[in-house]
Amino acid sequence: MTSSATEFRHIRYETPAERVARIVLNRPDARNAQNTGLLYELNDAFDLVAQDDGVSVAILAAEGPHFSSGHDLRERDSLDNLRAHRTVGTWCGFGCAGAEPVMAREKELYVGLCERWRSMPKPTIAQVHGKCISGGLMLVWPCDIVMASDDALFQDNTVDLGVGGVEWFAHASEVGPRRAKEMLFTAEWLTAQEAHALGMVNHVVPRDELEQATLDLARRIATKPLFALKLAKEAVNGVADAAGRSAAMAHAFALHQLAHSHNMQVHGLPIDPSGVTLR
Ligand code: ZN
Repeated sequence: MTSSATEFRHIRYETPAERVARIVLNRPDARNAQNTGLLYELNDAFDLVAQDDGVSVAILAAEGPHFSSGHDLRERDSLDNLRAHRTVGTWCGFGCAGAEPVMAREKELYVGLCERWRSMPKPTIAQVHGKCISGGLMLVWPCDIVMASDDALFQDNTVDLGVGGVEWFAHASEVGPRRAKEMLFTAEWLTAQEAHALGMVNHVVPRDELEQATLDLARRIATKPLFALKLAKEAVNGVADAAGRSAAMAHAFALHQLAHSHNMQVHGLPIDPSGVTLR
């Protein structure tokens, strides 16, 4: 295993096999909660993969007992944190008044980055173990293939926080509309086996075999002609886009912003604070 010359603070960038990169979320003490720095480092790492002609496949894995606990709700001064980085989208108004800065930040950091990663022109494989909560789903779902350990658990608990689902709203296409509604209404865990049966997860393997099974799959894919891999990915993504994915997500994102605005009026915060203790 070798490490890239690029230094990261919140992630690791590894090259565990020929033409395979592995990006590892590396905030285990915070259960890989996503602060602004982690999200931009992750974006930088995906850009490294995209632009490195020697890499064909990227794995997204996580250090510690759980994949990700979601957005880092302890992060304060989100405007300062955002300004510490070069934004990658074209949205603006991060320092404006009213509902605009919340929408601007989430359009940049959440839906914007998820769209960039989904459209990255190389195959990506999420390697998920332990718990993957709310914002964690927005790291897994943009990936092309999902490998899960048999102890992996998935949850969206944002209704508890007064919001009707995470920003990059892929629930219905990932698990089907009925299961998506139950997942959102109850915030109950979706097991790896259930996610596999619903088509959200490609393979479920024992925890101690997850890393090797994921690497084996990545190596097999990495032997294929890269341009054909890119075209296959574009073609499959195009099916969802032709079915109205972007319009459906834009609709859900507008409702999500309505929830933040409502919570600001009622609670003075973009979320209902009574739900935070449920995390
Ligand atoms: Zn939000």
